[in-house]
Amino acid sequence: MLKREDRELFQQAMDYGLSYMDTIDQRSVFPEKGAVKDLQFFNEPLSAEGTTGPELLAMLNRYGAPATVAQTGGRYFGFVNGGALVESLAAGWLASVWDQNAALYLMSPVAVHLETVCQQWLVDLFNLPDECVMGLVGGSSTATLCGLAAARTTLLKKQGWDVNEQGLQGAPSIRIILGEQAHSSVLKGLAILGFGRAQLELVPADSEGRMMIDKLPSLDETCLVICQAGNVNSGAFDPIGQIADLTSQADGWLHVDGAFGLWCACSQSRRYLTRGIEKADSWSVDGHKTLNTPYDCGIILCRHQSALAAAMQAAGSYLHYSDHYEPMAHVVEMSRRARGIELWAALKMLGRKGVEQLIDRLHYHAFIFAGELEAHGFQILNEVVFNQVLVACSSPEETELTLQNIQAAGTCWCGGTKINGKAAIRISVCSAATDENDIKHSVDSFAAARQAAKKKLSEKGSG
Ligand SMILES: *Cc1c(COP(=O)(O)O)cnc(C)c1O
Repeated sequence: MLKREDRELFQQAMDYGLSYMDTIDQRSVFPEKGAVKDLQFFNEPLSAEGTTGPELLAMLNRYGAPATVAQTGGRYFGFVNGGALVESLAAGWLASVWDQNAALYLMSPVAVHLETVCQQWLVDLFNLPDECVMGLVGGSSTATLCGLAAARTTLLKKQGWDVNEQGLQGAPSIRIILGEQAHSSVLKGLAILGFGRAQLELVPADSEGRMMIDKLPSLDETCLVICQAGNVNSGAFDPIGQIADLTSQADGWLHVDGAFGLWCACSQSRRYLTRGIEKADSWSVDGHKTLNTPYDCGIILCRHQSALAAAMQAAGSYLHYSDHYEPMAHVVEMSRRARGIELWAALKMLGRKGVEQLIDRLHYHAFIFAGELEAHGFQILNEVVFNQVLVACSSPEETELTLQNIQAAGTCWCGGTKINGKAAIRISVCSAATDENDIKHSVDSFAAARQAAKKKLSEKGSG
């Protein structure tokens, strides 16, 4: 039975958590300087004696919470982070209490069963072939690594080479074709798998960052092609359908990095962007970005179960694979938290319609954000096809200073980037919590920040 003081400890954690959620909109979106400085409080040698639960929770609440980034609120537009649906978060709290290891069915029937349910739902939502299997990992980076590993195993096997047995040294070659604006995590995955930068065939991108189809080299059966559903800057989508047709005609392997953009397949109005994804061999996508599950939840989907399982080989005399779906056969990790529970909760709460509305809402808010900014004299540098907006002022200095002012004001938070050599403010609308009021306040903050930037620049110019 739970001891009284333990019950009180969880009550304390819940009280802190609830008051955090209650005040999220009053917080500076990025922590104030003083709060970051106060993190020094944690710098101490590990004491000989321990600390009580209530004391350490109080420390977290006092010094930790103020140094958080308010990404579960409606005005965090930095990176492509996404907020947290409360139903999914609450399910995650419960699942934390269960403390399940989702490596094998034998370790947790419930964790694994809910993953199989999610697998079916996702295959259905994204309209992928029925034979697809899923694995849950920490994020799209790892999901991509899994997909590319399956591709490597398969493309070498076709050339009579067993990479698990014979290794990579002396192996036949694989051609790797990807867009010059592929996400850095793809390059990381390739490097880990033994493919260096100099060995990649980079396809030039257009001004939106899309692979130019007429610049695609001719393909053959040794080709691993990687395309992108959602450019991390512009949000643009590669011409996936055309690339998929060419890859399958050549009998190569196509991986789609759809970290945040693959979800567009669930919306009637956005689906044109992902046309043809069902012809690919593997897909990586995040739950923690667009879908707004809490961190962390990355998803690998693969059409060829045996290829993924071969790449993620796991054996040991004490491991018992049942007839059930076995998570650890599809991912890098063995022991793993039961992130399928939060994923299941998010999908179950939303339903098909809710997922579609979420996608459409993110797009709508990005669209009106861009429109309002344009009306205020800002320049929009990209086509707002989904949730990303790139903004510039009259000069690079003005753009950079405006961004600094926006970040310092704390009303909202955006990052900076360079697009076609031009400094830009990058907005990613990916929190389900964002509403029209948030957009309005953020646009006001942009306008004030630019006003101040202009004033400072003119003083500098005349002074
Ligand atoms: C965020 C992102 C990734 C990496 O995903 P993580 O979940 O952070 O590992 C990969 N590709 C694209 C396009 C992304 O936006």
